[in-house]
Amino acid sequence: MTSNHDLLARSLSSVWHPCTQMKRHETLPLVPIARGEGVWLFDVDGKRYLDTVSSWWVNLFGHCNPRINAAITHQLGKLEHVMLAGFTHEPVVQLSERLRDLAPTGLGHCFYGSDGASATEIALKMSAHYWRNTGKPQKCEFISLQNSYHGETLGALSVTDVALFRDAYGALIKQNATVPCPNWREADAGESAEAYALRCITALETHLKAHHQHIAAFIIEPLVQGAAGMAMYHPTYLLRARELCSQYDVHLIADEIAVGMGRTGTMFACEQANISPDFLLISKGITGGYLPLSIVMTTDHIYQAFYDDKTSRGFLHSHSYTGNPLACRAALATLDIFEQDDVLNTNRDKTAFFNRIAAPLRDHPKVKNFRNMGMIWAFEVNSPHTDFAQRCFTLGLQHELLLRPMGNTVYFMPPYVITEKDMQMLVERTLTIIESLS
Ligand SMILES: *Cc1c(COP(=O)(O)O)cnc(C)c1O
Repeated sequence: MTSNHDLLARSLSSVWHPCTQMKRHETLPLVPIARGEGVWLFDVDGKRYLDTVSSWWVNLFGHCNPRINAAITHQLGKLEHVMLAGFTHEPVVQLSERLRDLAPTGLGHCFYGSDGASATEIALKMSAHYWRNTGKPQKCEFISLQNSYHGETLGALSVTDVALFRDAYGALIKQNATVPCPNWREADAGESAEAYALRCITALETHLKAHHQHIAAFIIEPLVQGAAGMAMYHPTYLLRARELCSQYDVHLIADEIAVGMGRTGTMFACEQANISPDFLLISKGITGGYLPLSIVMTTDHIYQAFYDDKTSRGFLHSHSYTGNPLACRAALATLDIFEQDDVLNTNRDKTAFFNRIAAPLRDHPKVKNFRNMGMIWAFEVNSPHTDFAQRCFTLGLQHELLLRPMGNTVYFMPPYVITEKDMQMLVERTLTIIESLS
């Protein structure tokens, strides 16, 4: 115990933890994780926790997956990294080719970044630069949905509408407009999700009609707004938004950082509306949750607007670790697993099973808005506790669950390798926790 206590104390005195009011840790202990295996994380005392949130939505095929481990180890013996300006390598080429084949049609060019926020920055810059290169420099504003989340660097925050992350930095951020979000929980009584989506489309159309001359792009989280509390909406919205963006000469940026890689039941959420965006952002699950990597995919039309004798018309953006070979190898191993294990079909069965056994949760008198899309489940809990999220997290740990509610919204976004037995346990123990918090 002494050595564990030591680790926690040393962490608190040297590590500034993300998304955390550090003073909270005066009463709330950190969880010192020693190793991971499949859906389980083990702390330094050997106590286990079911990673129901895939470690911030990144893990797809479990911790220490033997196949991904082997791929990275193999790559490690050949080339760990080389700069991607002026140089290239097999893993980055293979990954770009495979993504081109997997993504919605027309997205033939891959630009690499290191994390989700950098992908957002790249897409925003590329979009505005495209309009500049094509003689419309006044098109340099962006729109996003209400409650949108696209990352936390300053450019990404300018299209992020979560007050908690944004308010302290208002003076540093370019002000961009938001349009109503088609989240079906906001629909009127008796109004269908689709009817509400169409009502929100009318607002989008009005906005585009009035302001399109100054708008470079509309950035959107397709089908599920993760950080807004797993807000889900009807695919009709995406379909109509695509049409309106084309009509008004505005780029559509699909931020699939959280929903891509099979999370909503299809490889990319855009497929459910049968649309191709002008930019597709991928990160989080692409490396199976192993290494930071992000990709901005775009069209040949946009690529060609930068292709010129003049250096300044090129896209000069870079990050030191752009296209890192180890991360690309992890991504290739992740795509291999999708193919070899027929993951999208297997997940459909898992989703159906979970929805059957989750009936007692869905029907619980304190549970509201139980919803599911692919491998995402969420619901609100009616609880008298103002610190519900904190209590739920702490109780979760006591019940071997890593639960990390957003406000009163509990969600599950487990690694795809979760078994029926583990799902059963997750439902039963979550019920117990809700009972004691409501
Ligand atoms: C997580 C996330 C981001 C930001 O990615 P980071 O790697 O955390 O910078 C952007 N958009 C969406 C939809 C996300 O879920």
